[in-house]
Amino acid sequence: MAKYTGPSCRLCRREGEKLYLKGDRCYNIASDGTNKPLCPFDRTNKKVTPPGPVHVGRKKVSGYQQQLREKQKVKRTYGLLEKQMFHYYELAEKQKGVTGENMLILIERRLDNVVFQMGIAASRAQARQLVCHGHITVNGSKVDIPSYLIKAGDVVAVKSEKAENEFFKALKESPVRANMPKWVSFNKEELKGEVVALPTREDIDSRIKEHMIVELYSK
Ligand code: SF4
Repeated sequence: MAKYTGPSCRLCRREGEKLYLKGDRCYNIASDGTNKPLCPFDRTNKKVTPPGPVHVGRKKVSGYQQQLREKQKVKRTYGLLEKQMFHYYELAEKQKGVTGENMLILIERRLDNVVFQMGIAASRAQARQLVCHGHITVNGSKVDIPSYLIKAGDVVAVKSEKAENEFFKALKESPVRANMPKWVSFNKEELKGEVVALPTREDIDSRIKEHMIVELYSK
């Protein structure tokens, strides 16, 4: 399936929860004096309706639908295509341990996700763009493949020639990412970070029910 290029908030509305696809906008309030949250989920106490025609009445959700929604949620959170998602499942299946956990850890190790987790980019979409445009190095060599899998001890940095770029100058002056996971570190002054250890399941969003994705793919 082709890459989705429509509104990001529509994807969150479809999954019925915040997927934090738009970076700062997902947390901020309007600057027009109304102080309204910019995220539709924070604007109301009511359930945010999914896109498309309104369905009246309660519809029973099948097991397959639940599995499908769980898989779509992960795909959309990390900006993956179906083929890539299935590829991670196949790789995880060959590893020792719990397939669902292995799959999530593999996805979390993607370079675009690491750039996002270090706080270099405000969202995974922005991180992917920084990587694709050749702004990022791993252990001193340029890597422009967002799916590159990092290892423990890898040093991820902004390419030295790009450090004077306005975007990275602003990054140096901005506060360090508040909720940076413990498996990465980032030095703002040097625009350089380290993968302290590989992520574990505890470091990844606990709302994800990965066993459902495994059930779906193993049918
Ligand atoms: Fe999702 Fe809210 Fe961010 Fe839009 S603003 S992408 S609905 S979390």
